[in-house]
Amino acid sequence: NNVILLNSRPDGKPKLSDFKFSTEEKPEIGAGEMLLKTKFISVDPYLRGRMSESKSYIASFELGKPINSGGVAEVVASNVDGYKVGEFVSGGLDWKEFQLSNGKNLTKVNESLAPLSNYLGILGMTGLTAYFGLSEIGVPKKGETIVVSGAAGAVGNMVGQIGKILGCRVVGIAGTDEKVNALKTDFGFDEAINYNTEPNITKAIANFCPNGVDVYFDNVGGEISDGVHANINRLGRVIVCGAISSYNDTTPPQGPRVEQFLIKKSVLMQGFIVGNYADKFPDGIKQLSTWLKEGKLVSSETIVEGFNNIPQAFIDLFEGKNNGKMIVKI
Ligand code: NDP
Repeated sequence: NNVILLNSRPDGKPKLSDFKFSTEEKPEIGAGEMLLKTKFISVDPYLRGRMSESKSYIASFELGKPINSGGVAEVVASNVDGYKVGEFVSGGLDWKEFQLSNGKNLTKVNESLAPLSNYLGILGMTGLTAYFGLSEIGVPKKGETIVVSGAAGAVGNMVGQIGKILGCRVVGIAGTDEKVNALKTDFGFDEAINYNTEPNITKAIANFCPNGVDVYFDNVGGEISDGVHANINRLGRVIVCGAISSYNDTTPPQGPRVEQFLIKKSVLMQGFIVGNYADKFPDGIKQLSTWLKEGKLVSSETIVEGFNNIPQAFIDLFEGKNNGKMIVKI
């Protein structure tokens, strides 16, 4: 049984040698257990935080132990009431080809309703993050302008699409011309900015948002956010979802201070963890599934094949190699 362990805590950008490819005996089920065969693994920027020792809202990974992230698996043997061979489940999975489970913290997923990978993206944590961050904190009103950073990534792409469904003007920020074009032609964004070629983000936001920015959904932080904050409207809302631009920093980032904008413009700035809304997940999934069925939401996924490619797929998130949700098919 192939497994992937944390070999060392990354110093700066994660590298392949921070992971250890190992094998173990394929486990056999006992009473109250089932055997899961991993089908899809989600790689996510937040895993970078769990690879370091610093305290957070979720425990650090232990050295020499398997990494764990969202995944979809098939039940291949079962002694657990309610779980039959051939059914699929999603939940936190170790990076192992096969593993045992007692069914706790797993959700059954149905391949006939949506492709299995969708349960890690549009109908999973990604979709819920975009939906609850935007609707609970951003509370966008029809006609308002939403700016989203990391716009071509998993969460950002969904934020933009949901913003359009809610009748807003949506401007995305992403790292390549190809991504910028796709946001406009395939995902309905009104405008998009390439932060790697745009010399002045503050001016670009001002140009593309003639009425200012009412809601900023921030996935990246850093200088990109400095440019957006400078254009925020009175009573604007800043949703602090992620800060990937600083996840690999070895010294704390410094930047322009935002408090003056917050005071002068009476702006709300709030961070959140999607888990805060766990009691509302069924409602969120229902809404997202409805929009998906109605063709109002389009899924965007980058699927990498092969168990041994999980660490590289994770590393590639920091190089912007993905369009939409980065998922590894086993
Ligand atoms: P993405 O699919 O957006 O993947 C990461 C993307 O970030 C890359 O494709 C890349 O796109 C961009 N990126 C990488 N490095 C940088 C950089 N230095 N500066 C700017 N952009 C960069 O990941 P997710 O959608 O899964 O996550 C997006 C953000 O949301 C992350 O910060 C994540 O931690 C956070 N998150 C927060 C949750 C919460 O509960 N609060 C839940 C889920 C995610 P590009 O080519 O455009 O640079």
